[in-house]
Amino acid sequence: MYYNSRAVIIKSVDYAENDKILTVFTEAEGKVKAVAKGVKKAGSSLRICVQPFCHSFLHFRRGKDMEQITQGKLLDFYGEVRDDINCALQAMYIMEILDHAVMLKDPHPELYENLLKVLALLNGRGYNPLFIRYFEIQLLIVLGYAPTWDRCVACGRKKTGSTHFNIEGGGMVCGNCRAGFNNTFILSEESLGILRLLSKTAVPVLARIKASEAALRQLENFLEKYMQYHLGKDFKMKNTIKNLQKIIPM
Ligand SMILES: [Zn+2]
Repeated sequence: MYYNSRAVIIKSVDYAENDKILTVFTEAEGKVKAVAKGVKKAGSSLRICVQPFCHSFLHFRRGKDMEQITQGKLLDFYGEVRDDINCALQAMYIMEILDHAVMLKDPHPELYENLLKVLALLNGRGYNPLFIRYFEIQLLIVLGYAPTWDRCVACGRKKTGSTHFNIEGGGMVCGNCRAGFNNTFILSEESLGILRLLSKTAVPVLARIKASEAALRQLENFLEKYMQYHLGKDFKMKNTIKNLQKIIPM
């Protein structure tokens, strides 16, 4: 009837006078919906651990439609993320992807670890687009949408030397098969190298990867199209960020 888990808040909506309905990404049970009763009251001990950009240890009571959070302890607060508008928006974008792409009660401890690592990087080192690209790729891999980099998705030939990627097929297409696909995304050698690296690299290496502005733009554009097709959604936060970037230099 009860369980405990480390958790990060994905979304929070006010409910009744003093409560909040939360979407929480937990290590133990994956994404869950939970009510935090009385959390808006001054002096509520839960208040601090159910804020955005917090990493908390929470106690849940199982419920029919949603859980109830009964107690909590703050483990980490990524305050620098909140204080930098670009970091904050990017972290909100990550939460939006999680909210959409991960099913309820489908645990992904590996993705949970990656989320913590990316939040810690944003918090400690500030915004780097590769941190976000890394999270996108790792999420796609964990959810079974890993792009195929090392062989042609049509004929299976390895070491094709091609930089043509077929979004629908989820991988590279070689020179012989290319004609059969009217919709390929042509990646630069640089972008392809970075994508391969982000697919298998460990987090500590991330901050040392160098990328040109052109490659960063291409990677963002490519992954946006890939996720649109395979996750079936445009992410609102992405457009919010783009619109803001036109007004405020970030
Ligand atoms: Zn082929």
